[in-house]
Amino acid sequence: MDISLVKTTAPKTKPNEAELGFGRYFTDHMFMMDYSKGEWRDPRIVPYGPLQLDPSTSVFHYAQAVFEGMKAFRAEDGRILLFRPEQNMARLNKSNRRLCIPEIDEEFLLEALKKLIRLDADWVPSQPGTSLYIRPFIIGVDNVLGVRPAPTYKLLIILSPSGAYYEEGINPVSIYVEPHYVRAVRGGTGAAKAAGNYAGGLLAQRLASERGHAQVLWLDGLERRYVEEVGAMNVFFNIDGELITPDLGDSVLPGVTRDSVLQLLRSWNIPALERKLAIDELFAAHAEGRLLEAFGCGTAAVISPIGRLEYKEQVIDINGGRTGEISQRLYDAITGIQSGRLPDEFGWITEV
Ligand SMILES: *Cc1c(COP(=O)(O)O)cnc(C)c1O
Repeated sequence: MDISLVKTTAPKTKPNEAELGFGRYFTDHMFMMDYSKGEWRDPRIVPYGPLQLDPSTSVFHYAQAVFEGMKAFRAEDGRILLFRPEQNMARLNKSNRRLCIPEIDEEFLLEALKKLIRLDADWVPSQPGTSLYIRPFIIGVDNVLGVRPAPTYKLLIILSPSGAYYEEGINPVSIYVEPHYVRAVRGGTGAAKAAGNYAGGLLAQRLASERGHAQVLWLDGLERRYVEEVGAMNVFFNIDGELITPDLGDSVLPGVTRDSVLQLLRSWNIPALERKLAIDELFAAHAEGRLLEAFGCGTAAVISPIGRLEYKEQVIDINGGRTGEISQRLYDAITGIQSGRLPDEFGWITEV
Protein backbone atom coordinates (compact mmCIF):
# COMPACT_ATOMS: atom_id res chain seq x y z
CA MET A 1 0.00 0.00 0.00
CA ASP A 2 1.35 3.43 -0.94
CA ILE A 3 1.21 6.16 1.64
CA SER A 4 -0.03 9.40 0.15
CA LEU A 5 1.36 12.70 1.38
CA VAL A 6 -0.13 16.16 1.73
CA LYS A 7 2.39 18.57 3.22
CA THR A 8 1.41 21.44 5.43
CA THR A 9 1.48 24.88 3.87
CA ALA A 10 1.71 26.49 7.33
CA PRO A 11 4.59 24.93 9.34
CA LYS A 12 4.34 25.80 13.03
CA THR A 13 7.00 27.59 15.07
CA LYS A 14 8.87 24.99 17.11
CA PRO A 15 8.73 25.37 20.89
CA ASN A 16 11.85 26.06 22.96
CA GLU A 17 13.42 22.71 23.89
CA ALA A 18 13.84 23.80 27.49
CA GLU A 19 10.08 24.30 27.92
CA LEU A 20 8.58 21.27 26.19
CA GLY A 21 6.89 19.50 29.11
CA PHE A 22 5.00 16.33 28.15
CA GLY A 23 2.42 15.94 25.38
CA ARG A 24 1.68 19.63 24.93
CA TYR A 25 3.04 20.30 21.44
CA PHE A 26 2.43 18.38 18.23
CA THR A 27 4.41 18.26 15.01
CA ASP A 28 3.28 19.51 11.59
CA HIS A 29 1.97 16.18 10.26
CA MET A 30 0.08 13.07 11.31
CA PHE A 31 -0.49 9.64 9.84
CA MET A 32 -4.04 8.37 9.22
CA MET A 33 -5.62 5.22 7.86
CA ASP A 34 -9.25 4.06 7.73
CA TYR A 35 -10.88 0.69 8.11
CA SER A 36 -14.07 -0.08 6.21
CA LYS A 37 -15.57 -2.98 4.26
CA GLY A 38 -13.21 -5.40 5.98
CA GLU A 39 -9.93 -3.66 5.09
CA TRP A 40 -7.48 -1.06 6.29
CA ARG A 41 -7.23 1.49 3.48
CA ASP A 42 -6.08 4.92 2.35
CA PRO A 43 -2.88 5.30 4.40
CA ARG A 44 -1.89 8.96 4.29
CA ILE A 45 0.26 11.60 5.91
CA VAL A 46 -1.56 14.89 6.22
CA PRO A 47 -1.16 18.19 8.09
CA TYR A 48 -1.78 17.81 11.85
CA GLY A 49 -5.28 19.02 12.62
CA PRO A 50 -8.73 18.34 14.09
CA LEU A 51 -10.95 15.41 13.14
CA GLN A 52 -14.58 15.94 12.28
CA LEU A 53 -16.73 13.17 13.75
CA ASP A 54 -20.48 12.69 14.03
CA PRO A 55 -21.77 13.01 17.63
CA SER A 56 -23.02 9.42 17.40
CA THR A 57 -19.47 8.12 16.79
CA SER A 58 -19.15 4.97 18.86
CA VAL A 59 -15.80 5.71 20.52
CA PHE A 60 -17.38 8.66 22.38
CA HIS A 61 -19.96 6.37 23.93
CA TYR A 62 -18.42 2.94 24.39
CA ALA A 63 -14.65 3.58 24.31
CA GLN A 64 -13.67 1.09 21.65
CA ALA A 65 -10.20 2.58 21.53
CA VAL A 66 -6.61 1.41 22.00
CA PHE A 67 -3.30 3.25 21.94
CA GLU A 68 0.46 2.90 22.17
CA GLY A 69 3.22 5.05 23.65
CA MET A 70 6.82 5.02 22.46
CA LYS A 71 9.70 7.42 21.85
CA ALA A 72 12.22 8.45 19.21
CA PHE A 73 15.58 9.79 20.39
CA ARG A 74 18.16 12.07 18.78
CA ALA A 75 21.63 10.51 19.02
CA GLU A 76 24.69 12.71 19.43
CA ASP A 77 25.63 12.07 15.79
CA GLY A 78 22.22 13.32 14.65
CA ARG A 79 20.61 9.93 13.87
CA ILE A 80 17.05 9.31 15.06
CA LEU A 81 16.61 6.08 17.04
CA LEU A 82 13.54 4.06 18.01
CA PHE A 83 13.57 1.72 21.02
CA ARG A 84 12.03 -1.73 20.37
CA PRO A 85 9.22 -0.32 18.17
CA GLU A 86 8.21 -3.79 16.91
CA GLN A 87 7.18 -4.58 20.51
CA ASN A 88 4.74 -1.68 20.50
CA MET A 89 3.30 -2.74 17.15
CA ALA A 90 2.80 -6.30 18.41
CA ARG A 91 1.16 -5.03 21.61
CA LEU A 92 -1.14 -2.78 19.59
CA ASN A 93 -2.46 -5.90 17.87
CA LYS A 94 -2.84 -7.68 21.21
CA SER A 95 -4.92 -4.75 22.43
CA ASN A 96 -6.88 -4.82 19.15
CA ARG A 97 -7.78 -8.46 19.64
CA ARG A 98 -9.06 -7.80 23.16
CA LEU A 99 -11.20 -4.83 22.03
CA CYS A 100 -12.56 -6.50 18.83
CA ILE A 101 -10.63 -4.02 16.65
CA PRO A 102 -9.30 -5.39 13.34
CA GLU A 103 -5.57 -6.14 13.41
CA ILE A 104 -3.09 -3.97 11.56
CA ASP A 105 -0.03 -4.98 9.50
CA GLU A 106 2.71 -4.39 12.07
CA GLU A 107 5.56 -4.03 9.57
CA PHE A 108 3.59 -1.65 7.40
CA LEU A 109 2.66 0.54 10.35
CA LEU A 110 6.30 0.71 11.47
CA GLU A 111 7.32 1.82 7.96
CA ALA A 112 4.55 4.44 8.01
CA LEU A 113 5.79 5.68 11.39
CA LYS A 114 9.36 6.01 10.07
CA LYS A 115 8.11 7.94 7.06
CA LEU A 116 6.16 10.32 9.30
CA ILE A 117 9.17 10.86 11.59
CA ARG A 118 11.48 11.51 8.63
CA LEU A 119 9.09 14.16 7.38
CA ASP A 120 8.94 15.85 10.81
CA ALA A 121 12.57 15.05 11.69
CA ASP A 122 13.31 18.67 12.61
CA TRP A 123 10.88 18.22 15.52
CA VAL A 124 12.99 15.54 17.24
CA PRO A 125 14.64 17.47 20.08
CA SER A 126 18.30 16.99 20.95
CA GLN A 127 18.80 18.27 24.51
CA PRO A 128 19.74 15.49 27.00
CA GLY A 129 16.64 13.64 28.21
CA THR A 130 14.31 15.01 25.53
CA SER A 131 12.54 12.82 22.97
CA LEU A 132 9.81 12.70 20.38
CA TYR A 133 6.86 10.97 22.03
CA ILE A 134 4.89 8.81 19.57
CA ARG A 135 1.20 8.14 20.08
CA PRO A 136 -0.46 5.65 17.71
CA PHE A 137 -4.16 5.06 18.44
CA ILE A 138 -7.23 3.45 16.91
CA ILE A 139 -10.86 4.47 17.46
CA GLY A 140 -14.14 2.84 16.48
CA VAL A 141 -16.16 5.26 14.34
CA ASP A 142 -19.51 3.49 13.97
CA ASN A 143 -22.41 5.93 13.61
CA VAL A 144 -25.03 3.73 15.25
CA LEU A 145 -25.72 3.87 19.01
CA GLY A 146 -26.04 0.11 19.42
CA VAL A 147 -23.27 -1.57 21.42
CA ARG A 148 -21.30 -3.67 18.93
CA PRO A 149 -17.82 -3.83 17.42
CA ALA A 150 -17.67 -0.92 14.98
CA PRO A 151 -17.57 -1.79 11.26
CA THR A 152 -15.35 1.27 10.68
CA TYR A 153 -12.19 2.60 12.41
CA LYS A 154 -9.59 5.31 12.19
CA LEU A 155 -5.93 4.73 13.02
CA LEU A 156 -3.77 7.80 13.69
CA ILE A 157 -0.19 8.46 14.71
CA ILE A 158 0.61 11.81 16.25
CA LEU A 159 4.03 13.02 17.43
CA SER A 160 4.84 15.23 20.39
CA PRO A 161 8.30 16.63 21.19
CA SER A 162 8.70 16.13 24.94
CA GLY A 163 11.03 17.43 27.61
CA ALA A 164 13.25 15.51 30.01
CA TYR A 165 11.08 13.62 32.53
CA TYR A 166 13.64 14.42 35.22
CA GLU A 167 14.92 17.97 35.18
CA GLU A 168 17.48 17.37 37.93
CA GLY A 169 18.33 13.65 37.88
CA ILE A 170 15.95 10.88 38.88
CA ASN A 171 14.29 11.35 42.24
CA PRO A 172 12.08 9.06 44.32
CA VAL A 173 8.35 9.69 44.71
CA SER A 174 5.75 8.93 47.36
CA ILE A 175 3.11 6.32 46.50
CA TYR A 176 -0.34 5.59 47.93
CA VAL A 177 -1.34 1.92 48.05
CA GLU A 178 -4.99 2.09 46.98
CA PRO A 179 -7.04 -0.06 49.39
CA HIS A 180 -10.44 0.18 47.64
CA TYR A 181 -10.45 1.11 43.94
CA VAL A 182 -8.87 -1.26 41.43
CA ARG A 183 -7.47 -0.70 37.93
CA ALA A 184 -8.09 -4.09 36.39
CA VAL A 185 -9.62 -7.47 37.17
CA ARG A 186 -8.98 -11.02 36.06
CA GLY A 187 -10.74 -11.44 32.73
CA GLY A 188 -10.90 -7.67 32.20
CA THR A 189 -8.99 -5.34 29.88
CA GLY A 190 -6.00 -4.50 32.11
CA ALA A 191 -3.46 -6.19 29.85
CA ALA A 192 -4.61 -4.10 26.87
CA LYS A 193 -3.66 -0.46 26.35
CA ALA A 194 -7.38 0.33 26.17
CA ALA A 195 -8.45 3.95 26.58
CA GLY A 196 -11.23 3.11 29.04
CA ASN A 197 -8.77 1.71 31.60
CA TYR A 198 -7.31 5.15 32.19
CA ALA A 199 -10.60 6.97 32.78
CA GLY A 200 -11.39 4.34 35.42
CA GLY A 201 -8.13 5.11 37.25
CA LEU A 202 -8.56 8.87 37.55
CA LEU A 203 -10.53 9.00 40.81
CA ALA A 204 -7.98 6.95 42.77
CA GLN A 205 -5.20 9.05 41.24
CA ARG A 206 -6.93 12.23 42.40
CA LEU A 207 -7.45 10.89 45.94
CA ALA A 208 -3.79 9.86 46.18
CA SER A 209 -2.71 13.25 44.95
CA GLU A 210 -4.91 14.99 47.57
CA ARG A 211 -3.07 12.94 50.21
CA GLY A 212 0.23 14.25 48.91
CA HIS A 213 1.30 11.25 46.83
CA ALA A 214 2.57 11.19 43.27
CA GLN A 215 0.91 7.94 42.21
CA VAL A 216 -1.28 5.00 43.16
CA LEU A 217 0.02 1.48 43.75
CA TRP A 218 -2.72 -0.79 42.40
CA LEU A 219 -3.63 -4.05 44.13
CA ASP A 220 -5.34 -6.98 42.42
CA GLY A 221 -9.07 -6.66 41.79
CA LEU A 222 -10.12 -9.89 43.50
CA GLU A 223 -8.52 -9.85 46.96
CA ARG A 224 -6.91 -6.40 46.92
CA ARG A 225 -3.88 -8.13 48.32
CA TYR A 226 -1.33 -8.62 45.52
CA VAL A 227 0.67 -5.76 44.04
CA GLU A 228 0.03 -5.16 40.32
CA GLU A 229 1.19 -1.80 38.95
CA VAL A 230 2.05 1.75 39.97
CA GLY A 231 0.05 4.42 38.12
CA ALA A 232 0.53 3.54 34.45
CA MET A 233 3.85 1.79 35.08
CA ASN A 234 5.00 -1.70 35.96
CA VAL A 235 6.68 -2.11 39.31
CA PHE A 236 9.75 -3.86 40.77
CA PHE A 237 10.87 -4.45 44.36
CA ASN A 238 14.33 -5.39 45.55
CA ILE A 239 13.92 -7.78 48.48
CA ASP A 240 17.22 -9.12 49.80
CA GLY A 241 18.91 -8.59 46.44
CA GLU A 242 16.19 -10.39 44.45
CA LEU A 243 14.29 -8.16 42.02
CA ILE A 244 10.60 -9.11 42.01
CA THR A 245 7.89 -7.91 39.62
CA PRO A 246 4.27 -9.15 39.49
CA ASP A 247 3.80 -11.92 36.93
CA LEU A 248 1.79 -11.09 33.82
CA GLY A 249 -1.81 -12.10 33.93
CA ASP A 250 -4.63 -10.38 32.12
CA SER A 251 -4.70 -7.58 34.71
CA VAL A 252 -1.10 -6.37 34.27
CA LEU A 253 0.02 -4.41 31.21
CA PRO A 254 3.04 -6.13 29.61
CA GLY A 255 5.41 -3.16 29.53
CA VAL A 256 8.28 -2.98 27.05
CA THR A 257 10.35 -1.30 29.78
CA ARG A 258 9.45 -4.12 32.21
CA ASP A 259 10.72 -6.68 29.71
CA SER A 260 13.90 -4.65 29.07
CA VAL A 261 14.54 -4.42 32.83
CA LEU A 262 14.15 -8.19 33.20
CA GLN A 263 16.58 -8.84 30.33
CA LEU A 264 19.16 -6.39 31.71
CA LEU A 265 18.96 -7.81 35.25
CA ARG A 266 19.40 -11.36 33.95
CA SER A 267 22.37 -10.27 31.83
CA TRP A 268 23.95 -8.81 35.00
CA ASN A 269 23.31 -12.06 36.92
CA ILE A 270 20.95 -10.30 39.31
CA PRO A 271 18.10 -12.64 40.31
CA ALA A 272 14.89 -11.39 38.65
CA LEU A 273 11.59 -13.05 39.50
CA GLU A 274 8.10 -12.71 38.08
CA ARG A 275 5.70 -13.80 40.78
CA LYS A 276 2.77 -12.82 42.97
CA LEU A 277 3.78 -10.38 45.68
CA ALA A 278 1.36 -9.65 48.54
CA ILE A 279 1.35 -6.15 50.01
CA ASP A 280 1.73 -7.72 53.50
CA GLU A 281 4.86 -9.55 52.35
CA LEU A 282 6.25 -6.23 51.18
CA PHE A 283 5.59 -4.45 54.47
CA ALA A 284 6.93 -7.43 56.44
CA ALA A 285 10.11 -7.39 54.34
CA HIS A 286 10.47 -3.69 55.13
CA ALA A 287 10.01 -4.32 58.86
CA GLU A 288 12.82 -6.90 58.69
CA GLY A 289 15.08 -4.49 56.82
CA ARG A 290 14.97 -6.60 53.65
CA LEU A 291 13.10 -4.22 51.31
CA LEU A 292 16.07 -2.50 49.68
CA GLU A 293 14.57 -0.57 46.77
CA ALA A 294 11.42 -0.14 44.71
CA PHE A 295 10.71 1.48 41.37
CA GLY A 296 8.09 1.90 38.67
CA CYS A 297 9.10 1.51 35.02
CA GLY A 298 7.57 2.66 31.75
CA THR A 299 8.34 4.52 28.56
CA ALA A 300 7.68 8.00 29.98
CA ALA A 301 9.92 7.94 33.09
CA VAL A 302 12.02 4.85 32.21
CA ILE A 303 12.70 4.22 35.92
CA SER A 304 10.77 6.03 38.68
CA PRO A 305 12.14 5.18 42.14
CA ILE A 306 9.65 4.81 45.00
CA GLY A 307 10.87 6.54 48.17
CA ARG A 308 7.77 6.12 50.33
CA LEU A 309 4.67 3.90 50.52
CA GLU A 310 1.46 4.56 52.47
CA TYR A 311 -0.96 1.68 53.07
CA LYS A 312 -3.84 1.77 55.57
CA GLU A 313 -2.22 4.35 57.93
CA GLN A 314 1.24 2.76 57.72
CA VAL A 315 3.94 4.84 56.06
CA ILE A 316 7.32 3.36 55.18
CA ASP A 317 10.42 4.94 53.68
CA ILE A 318 12.38 2.81 51.25
CA ASN A 319 16.18 3.09 51.07
CA GLY A 320 15.94 6.25 53.20
CA GLY A 321 13.94 7.90 50.42
CA ARG A 322 16.94 7.76 48.07
CA THR A 323 17.32 6.23 44.62
CA GLY A 324 18.54 2.63 44.87
CA GLU A 325 21.75 1.43 43.29
CA ILE A 326 20.08 -0.99 40.86
CA SER A 327 17.37 1.56 39.98
CA GLN A 328 20.08 4.04 38.97
CA ARG A 329 22.07 1.41 37.09
CA LEU A 330 18.98 0.37 35.08
CA TYR A 331 18.11 3.99 34.32
CA ASP A 332 21.64 4.70 33.08
CA ALA A 333 21.73 1.52 30.97
CA ILE A 334 18.33 2.00 29.30
CA THR A 335 18.70 5.73 28.60
CA GLY A 336 22.26 5.09 27.40
CA ILE A 337 21.10 2.48 24.87
CA GLN A 338 18.12 4.60 23.78
CA SER A 339 20.27 7.63 23.01
CA GLY A 340 23.00 5.62 21.27
CA ARG A 341 25.61 6.45 23.95
CA LEU A 342 25.94 2.79 24.96
CA PRO A 343 26.31 -0.21 22.61
CA ASP A 344 23.06 -1.88 21.56
CA GLU A 345 23.92 -5.37 22.81
CA PHE A 346 20.34 -6.65 22.75
CA GLY A 347 19.39 -5.43 19.26
CA TRP A 348 16.82 -3.03 20.70
CA ILE A 349 17.55 -0.05 18.45
CA THR A 350 16.00 0.71 15.05
CA GLU A 351 17.27 3.65 13.07
CA VAL A 352 14.63 5.85 11.44
C1 LIG B 1 2.00 1.76 28.96
C2 LIG B 1 1.82 1.18 30.33
C3 LIG B 1 2.88 0.58 31.04
C4 LIG B 1 4.31 0.62 30.60
O1 LIG B 1 4.54 0.07 29.37
P1 LIG B 1 5.85 0.49 28.55
O2 LIG B 1 5.74 -0.31 27.31
O3 LIG B 1 7.01 0.13 29.38
O4 LIG B 1 5.76 1.97 28.33
C5 LIG B 1 2.59 -0.05 32.25
N1 LIG B 1 1.33 -0.05 32.76
C6 LIG B 1 0.31 0.54 32.12
C7 LIG B 1 -1.04 0.49 32.73
C8 LIG B 1 0.52 1.19 30.90
O5 LIG B 1 -0.48 1.78 30.28
